[in-house]
Amino acid sequence: MGKIVSISNQKGGVGKTTTAINLASNLVELGKKILLLDIDPQGNSGSGLGLEVQSLNKTTYELLIGELSAREVIHKTFVDRLDIIPSNINLSGLEVDFLGIDKKEFKLRDALASVKQDYDYILIDCPPSLGVLTINALCASQSVMITLQTEYFALEGLSQLMRIISLVQNQWNPGLELEGVLLTMYDKRTNLANQVADDVRNFFKEKVYQTIIPRNIKLSEAPSFAKPINYYDPDGVGAKSYRSLAEEIVGMS
Ligand code: ATP
Ligand code: MG
Repeated sequence: MGKIVSISNQKGGVGKTTTAINLASNLVELGKKILLLDIDPQGNSGSGLGLEVQSLNKTTYELLIGELSAREVIHKTFVDRLDIIPSNINLSGLEVDFLGIDKKEFKLRDALASVKQDYDYILIDCPPSLGVLTINALCASQSVMITLQTEYFALEGLSQLMRIISLVQNQWNPGLELEGVLLTMYDKRTNLANQVADDVRNFFKEKVYQTIIPRNIKLSEAPSFAKPINYYDPDGVGAKSYRSLAEEIVGMS
């Protein structure tokens, strides 16, 4: 049975999509079958894997409004065993479609039920907001991974995110767990990054992954070549760090 993991933080630009794509691709390298689901209207997970997302009409949006089934919106990628449900700007209208609708929090959970057993992991790339999209992702998930940019304001806004996670646990999804906290864009040359990493470890303790993703130019270039890092720069530190994260997650490290 596939484990559904949301990758979330309502702060923008903290490495959610980079982690979604590269963790997915490295879990595949470890032999896992992965579905990556983009629930962010920006559609970056799909475009980062080479899909022309703005012209697609089989996306997370059609899935959530019940027009198409999960199987109908799953796209193959050039990576074997890595499938994707992409999104695009249409998803930003969902809040309006859902006005007055019953049990809207469970739309994603229910829509994924029929394909959950086909994958080892379903990773959900969340938007930088805490509205109906993130709530749907958290209600569908067994766990949530938080990515934090290793900079001064890393912990800012975290209490809101933790409050939403508690709300979801209390109201809709009591089994939701904290999968782990990932430090990204780490620059070891700065004292500040080290101090932030210490603060995060003091706060989240053993929930922080041993693997820290460094700031690495190849990681930021890879999406424009429509490739995960293990294809774009397989021997670089970016690929190594996401491989090590994948190993940590499947318990091989
Ligand atoms: P959003 O909230 O807008 O969805 P996000 O949290 O998904 O953003 P990303 O898109 O993954 O964040 O990353 C933001 C920017 O930082 C992107 O340009 C990305 O290429 C770059 N980036 C992400 N991780 C790294 C890294 N480890 N080293 C260098 N650049 C990175
Ligand atoms: Mg993103």
